[in-house]
Amino acid sequence: MTGKTGNIILAGMIIGAILGVFGGLYAGDFFLSIRFIGTLFLNALKMIVVPLIVASMIVGVTSLGDVSKLGKTTGKTLLYYFITTGFSVVIGIILVNILKPGEGVESFGAFVPDLVANSTGKSFIDVIVGLIPPNIIDAAAKGKVLPLIVFSLLFGTVLTTIGEKGKPVIQFFEGLNVAIMKLVNWIIYFAPLGVMALIGGIIAENRESLTELLSSLALYSFTVIFGLIIHAVVILPLMLKLFTGRKPFRYFLNMGQALTTAFTTASSSATLPITMECIEEKNKVDERAASFVLPLGATINMDGTALYEAVAALFIAQIYGVELGFTDQIIIFLTATLASIGAAGIPHAGTVTMVFVLSAVGLPLEGIGLIWAIDWFLDRCRTTVNVWGDSVGAAVISETKEFKN
Ligand code: ASP
Repeated sequence: MTGKTGNIILAGMIIGAILGVFGGLYAGDFFLSIRFIGTLFLNALKMIVVPLIVASMIVGVTSLGDVSKLGKTTGKTLLYYFITTGFSVVIGIILVNILKPGEGVESFGAFVPDLVANSTGKSFIDVIVGLIPPNIIDAAAKGKVLPLIVFSLLFGTVLTTIGEKGKPVIQFFEGLNVAIMKLVNWIIYFAPLGVMALIGGIIAENRESLTELLSSLALYSFTVIFGLIIHAVVILPLMLKLFTGRKPFRYFLNMGQALTTAFTTASSSATLPITMECIEEKNKVDERAASFVLPLGATINMDGTALYEAVAALFIAQIYGVELGFTDQIIIFLTATLASIGAAGIPHAGTVTMVFVLSAVGLPLEGIGLIWAIDWFLDRCRTTVNVWGDSVGAAVISETKEFKN
């Protein structure tokens, strides 16, 4: 896709989003009736995520050449993820302590949302056990991304050790990768319409909760969004500039299609194909680094989610009048980071894994019911930052010496 076409499509997506917002507010019924157009767009993205993850991880791993390079790259990538996620959680904790959005708010209508209730009882150990799928086809069918990544990492590594016999298999996955990216290109043409229909539908459905955004939850929402903005416009651009020397604003604009899609779908995984396209085609990041770092990032690197979980947990504590001292705040720091790693790249996943954070400091799960009404909106905001964090991460890792020769 040429730069000019890409820009026209991005403009179309932004106009689509704006039309969706107004349409959802003022012509709700019509937008609810065309929601299926958005579902088509979302399905098209989800349709290619599983083959994309498998092919791109395998291509990424085999292109690194040998196992020791793979180990170093994985180590550096994880380290980078921890550092940036850590920064974002600290920003959240500081802001929520200064702004105190929960003070004076009544503990209105607390309940445990179904999605959360169904997942309680799962511990972090379950997440780790889930890394090795007993049945890889079943994991793929259920769209479980993390086990697929682990399998692809192992499989790709093995392919580099079996010489001639491995070559045709590697070529097969290279071909698959190119073909999938071509499909992504086609799907992007459909994005402006898809964005309009998805946003219109979600706004129409949540019209009532918008008043919550402006009333009891206003300061809480402001705290989350303000923290996300600080992380997105100060910390991440600094990382990008410092480690890669790239121009952050240009890099950001080039990611426009992916960021708009993240906001629209509230899913890092569904956005992955477009993130990949923007990173490789527009920002010209080394394809080997992108295809290795992005699938991993879409699942475990969630700066926005981590910040959100810390803010939400402390907000709930403030509402219930629970004093959390320094040690408790450290526990929140650690559990919010882990919970963001454990969250899948799908809508509301971060709110579900908040169970870890709340349980760790003894806060009631009903607290989640207080913030549930506007999760549809904050989810979109944090997903956008998650994808932006992954995009910056790919550029940073592409500068490491493993990719430089
Ligand atoms: N929806 C987010 C994502 O896909 C995860 C979350 O709920 O925070 O990145």
